[in-house]
Amino acid sequence: MMLAISGGVGGAKLAAGLAQVLAPEDLTIAVNTGDDFVHLGLAISPDLDTVMYTLAGLNDTQRGWGLANETWSCMDSLRRLGAADWFQLGDRDLGTHLYRSHRLSQGATLTEVTAELCRAVGIRHAVVPMSDAPARTIIDTSEGELSFQDYFVRRHCEPAFRGIRFEGGAALGDRLDSVLRDGALKAIIFGPSNPILSIRPFLALPGFEAALRGRSVPAVAVSPIIGNAAVKGPLAKIMTEMGTPVSALEVARLYVGLIDAFVIDVVDAPQAPAIRDLGLDVIVTPALMVDAATRNALARTVIEYCSADRKAVRT
Ligand code: GDP
Repeated sequence: MMLAISGGVGGAKLAAGLAQVLAPEDLTIAVNTGDDFVHLGLAISPDLDTVMYTLAGLNDTQRGWGLANETWSCMDSLRRLGAADWFQLGDRDLGTHLYRSHRLSQGATLTEVTAELCRAVGIRHAVVPMSDAPARTIIDTSEGELSFQDYFVRRHCEPAFRGIRFEGGAALGDRLDSVLRDGALKAIIFGPSNPILSIRPFLALPGFEAALRGRSVPAVAVSPIIGNAAVKGPLAKIMTEMGTPVSALEVARLYVGLIDAFVIDVVDAPQAPAIRDLGLDVIVTPALMVDAATRNALARTVIEYCSADRKAVRT
């Protein structure tokens, strides 16, 4: 079995490719919950929903988040009522949040609710939250500390990034913990998720980094930076604000000690020697996922690396 680690959009695209190539019993997808929050009384898990909607083929590819064929009547009502309207909630999407909130209030865990939601849309692979306890990402900015969604959605990542911390002292989710200890685990695959906003929350969970460093299976990460720019989202802006050049090489540095191989796009091939000098194998391959074919091809390349005899690859 392989374990995929995912944030929202970038991780979800690779997860969808992996799910096309691997049987349900051969893949578990663990998803960041640091972005989760309660809004208008509803329990919202943006990355879990992005992964779920993408795997089910229900996501809106134009908008980049939420469900396709969405309508917005409820938002119109909320606006008329003068309620907060900075976080868009589509009518169809609301069903997910209502169901999740209701089941959590009945005492179900986020892992259980996620399994129920996924089953209802026909997903057969395991999608699990990184934690069942609230793990809240807080961003330190030029305007002070902001909760994740305040920074990301309400302020469109405009305040300069200064740092990140996590509130709540969340523990590893039971499913993620058991997969990490499972003798049948064959590989750990980090999708091209934002290494700071989406992957750091995993590393902050007690035991995750130690399990990663002590692993006996290959671990691979895919670069979210292609051609010195982020494919989407604020990663390039954040790296610049951290005083770091925007490159695949700089992302690779963040993963040193945690992975065996780093996947970069063909346009970044000139950076391969410098990444190898960090002690990582480098896989150079088309890494931009624009449709099912490119997602599946990238997934296959990563799986091939993980399945090969490591000694044979290194010599
Ligand atoms: P978020 O939580 O929705 O921001 O999603 P993630 O953290 O999972 O993914 C965001 C990152 O995915 C961004 O930094 C993008 O550059 C990266 N990304 C999005 N699409 C692609 C793609 O097709 N290929 C690669 N290599 N990276 C991508």
